[in-house]
Order: sequence, then C-alpha cells, then structure tokens
Amino acid sequence: MTTPDTPLLPNYFAGRWQTGHGHGTTLRDAVTGESLVRVDNTGLNLHEGFVFAREHGGAALRALSYGQRAAMLGEVVKVLQANRDAYYDIATRNSGTTTKDSAVDIDGGIFTLGYYAKQGEALGDAKCLLDGERIRMGKDPVFQTQHVLNPTRGVALFINAFNFPSWGLWEKAAPALLSGVPVIVKPATATAWLTQRMVEDVVKAGVLPEGALSVICGSSAHLMDQLQPFDVVSFTGSAETARIIRSHPAVAQRSVRCNIEADSLNSALLDPSATVDSEAFKLMVSEVVREMTVKSGQKCTAIRRIFVPLELFDDAAEAISAKLVKVTVGNPRNEGVRMGALVSQEQKRSVLHGIEALCHEALVLFDGSEVPLVDADPEASACVAPTLLGHRDPGQAKVLHEVEVFGPVATLMAYEDEDEAWDLVRRGEGSLVASIYSEDPAFIARAAAELADSHGRVHAISPDVAASQTGHGNVMPMSLHGGPGRAGGGEELGGLRALGFYHRRTAVQASSAALDALAATATTLKY
Ligand code: NAP
Repeated sequence: MTTPDTPLLPNYFAGRWQTGHGHGTTLRDAVTGESLVRVDNTGLNLHEGFVFAREHGGAALRALSYGQRAAMLGEVVKVLQANRDAYYDIATRNSGTTTKDSAVDIDGGIFTLGYYAKQGEALGDAKCLLDGERIRMGKDPVFQTQHVLNPTRGVALFINAFNFPSWGLWEKAAPALLSGVPVIVKPATATAWLTQRMVEDVVKAGVLPEGALSVICGSSAHLMDQLQPFDVVSFTGSAETARIIRSHPAVAQRSVRCNIEADSLNSALLDPSATVDSEAFKLMVSEVVREMTVKSGQKCTAIRRIFVPLELFDDAAEAISAKLVKVTVGNPRNEGVRMGALVSQEQKRSVLHGIEALCHEALVLFDGSEVPLVDADPEASACVAPTLLGHRDPGQAKVLHEVEVFGPVATLMAYEDEDEAWDLVRRGEGSLVASIYSEDPAFIARAAAELADSHGRVHAISPDVAASQTGHGNVMPMSLHGGPGRAGGGEELGGLRALGFYHRRTAVQASSAALDALAATATTLKY
C-alpha cells in the first residue's frame, strides 16, 4: 500500500528542483514492502532541460581545463563521503542489501570518482587532447596531420539499470564531467532514490557548475527524442530495452553516439589439469560462491556458467553446495544475515521464472529455499535463496547459454577437453568477463588468447595472486568494462580510455607552425 504522505522526490532539471504533476511510482522497502518515496516526471519540459544542460552546463565545463575539472571531481568525492551514512540507509531499505553489498555500489562509485580525479589532475591546464604523434603526409614535413580530441558539445544521457544506483552513475559521470560534458541521469525506477539523493547532495553543495548534473526520475518516455547529433547516450539494462535504444531515430538517424551495456552470461573456467585438492579448485569454489551471493547475484558481471572437467563435476557440485548452505539469507538489518533481498517483487518473480526456465534443461544441485529466511517474511520480502543448477553435457543445452537469471543462480557444466571448453564458453555469444582458475601460466595464456575476442575482460586467478586479485565480478576503473555481442558491444572505464566516448576525434592538417600553436593548449593523451 502507498500511504498518501509518501514523499515525492523532486527532479533536478533545467537548473531547478521540479516535481512531476502525476501520482508517481512508489519505491518500496525490498524486505518489508513498506512504501518509501515516490518518483515522477510528468509534465516536465524535457526540451528545456536538455537545452539548459547543453548550453549552460556544457559551456561552463568546457571553460575549465582538465585539471580544474579533475579538482571538481575531488570536491564531489568529499560531498559524497560526508553523506555516506544516508546512502547506506537508503540502500538497505530500497535495494535490500547488506552493508557489505551496499559498499560495492556506494564506495565503488566514490572510489571510481576519486580515481578519475587523480588521473585528470595529470592532464593539467590543457583544454584539448592530442591523440598520438603528428604524421607526415608527403615528402615535405612542413604539412602534417595531428589527430586531436575535443569534448563533444552535447549532453550525456545515462539511462541506468536498477542494480547499481550509485556506481552506475559515477563510473559514467566521472569520465563525462572530466571530459567537459554535462550529464543527465535517468536512474532505473525501482532504486532511483539513491541516485536522486546523491545528485541532490552534490547540487546543494554547489561544487559543479549549473547544468553540469541533472537527474530525472520516473518514466523514460520521450527522453531519447531530445537527443541531438552531438549528444551521447549510455544505456545499461536488458538486451530487450537495448534493442529499443539502438533503433531509436536519435541513434539510427541523428548519429547520436550510443554505448550499450546489456546482459551477459559470464563464465568461470577451471583448468583441465586441476584436481579436487588443487589450489585452483579451491579458489574457483570460493569465487563462484562469492559471485553468486554478492548483491544477491544482481551484478552484470556475476558468474552464471561454471565450467569444470567432467571428472570434477560431482566434487565441484558438492564443494560449492557445502559453502552455499552456510549463506544466511534474509533481512540485511539483521547482523546474522550474509545475503539480503533482490530489489523488488518484480525481480523476485523474474528470477523464479528464470530458474524455472533453466530447469527445463538443468538439474537442481543445490536449492537454498529449503533453509528458512532470517527475519524476513517469505511472501512480503524480495528474498531469493541461492540455487546451483547443473548439466553434464552442456553442449546439448540451449537455454542455459541464452538466459541470464539476474539473481543468486549459476549453472555448473562439465567439459571433456580444452577445445570443448572454449566452444562452451563462447556459447555465451559475447560476455563481460570470463575467469580462469589455474596454476599453469601456459594454460592461462592459451585461455586468454582463445577467449579474449568474445570477452571484455579475462580474469585469471592463480595461487600466487589469490590474495591480491580484485575479484571476478569487481569492475576496476583502470580496467576496461563492457563486452562484445550480447553483452551490448559497449566499452566503459579502462582508465583514460573512457574519455574517448565523450570526445570527438579530428584530423587537423596544417603547417608545423600552426600545429605548434595548437599543441600549446593541449596535452598528449597517454593511457
Ligand atoms: P531494463 O528494464 O532494460 O531497464 C534499464 C533502464 O532502461 C531503466 O532505467 C528503465 O527505466 C529504462 N527503460 C525501460 N524501458 C525503456 C525504453 N523503452 N526507453 C528508454 N529507457 C527505458 O533493465 P533492468 O532490469 O533495470 O536491468 C537489469 C539488466 O541490466 C540485467 O540484464 C543486467 O545484466 C544489465 N546490466 C548490465 C550492466 C553492464 O554494465 N553490462 C550493468 C548493470 C546491469 P525504468 O526503470 O523506469 O523502467
């Protein structure tokens, strides 16, 4: 039930706080179902907001150097750090996450901003970037070409997914603002509160120029219609919505640059020479359990398919299940709980439906739903227990390689030899990440060479890096994030590589003297 006094969150759009004129959509506590806040943008003048961001935000940001904008990101970090407690409170209620899981989103976002603040500082007083060296175009060196990168004179629209209301904003906003491009964020409705609150704190602190950062919550209707040729759009979400974004006239006819991060059937692959007592086996088991349960499996990078040699199938099933049975599921406010809820009843229905679909092909190896929830009502809460499925001959399966169940669910699959392993991993048709578990550097190198073209990231875990490896599913800002094929074909982060999306590359062909003058206001982009 929505009580009439459920607060309606304002949007920050066109340089002012504006509430929608409709009834709005209610956001709920993921565990109790209690109504928290409402979001709405009915009646807002979208054209005005986009023009304001482009004209005021864009101009103000471009007037600054990279170094000045980097310092600005540092100020945003301070504002967010000062308000962290409020963000954790919102995440516990609206996303149903434990403190540890909220940190992945909240502190992950702040860390990424801080990383770009530091990287940007090194770009100093420059106002544009040189891409590589000058290249001679003829015998006479007097006339040369220099590729330059200039911030696009448009706005960056972010249409984000529900699972990372903080990180999903800041991992994109950091490179956009550092580039000098204003941001309009449309968070996913189910968890929009955290994004809205963070933007509110930053806007109120006055650390960004007017129009540099706007937030519009609620319906996405007609947002894409506002996009003009020099704008960019970043979409994170399902493959189905991605298709709508890609075929929108803004992208198809007005050449709006578009980055898509969609769903992904990420893999974990155990070395064929591993044994049940090997370190590689143990490392794989721990990482699989971590990936299945962190944020209740609601991570685009989470392990969905686990490939092990056929002779280790039963041992792997047993070892993973033995750890999963210890995962307490329930109310994240209870200190005994290790895994909280999914974000909503809708997601719970979708995950249960997904498990049913996978079960047409797979066996259930572990079903955590037999263990009672801690401090949570099985009906009212969006809690779903971990489930391990399995298939001994996954080459025969179809759905297991096609359906991403966005929850604490993974499928163990057997392979007979290396070639079959590569083929099976590739059945994901392009994923964000594959992790390899091996003590043999030669196997890791072979796996990386085989799997690199179909993955954005190959993460190799061997005993020597066990303590320092950053995690299969953790997206680090210095490393590329994105994946080909069904993962959307997008690219994000990767250090200063991320700036490329927000800049336009131009070949300036001119005399050496003119290129010297140009270089005086620029710095060479080094990755
Ligand atoms: P979704 O339903 O596709 O929604 C994503 C966003 O698109 C939301 O903000 C949604 O708004 C908006 N939207 C819905 N219909 C739209 C339309 N017709 N035009 C424009 N925008 C529209 O996806 P989701 O369920 O939130 O996210 C889960 C998926 O995201 C998973 O498949 C996951 O793998 C993927 N994901 C990928 C990454 C990555 O980096 N690759 C990261 C996180 C998540 P409303 O919420 O208001 O409907």
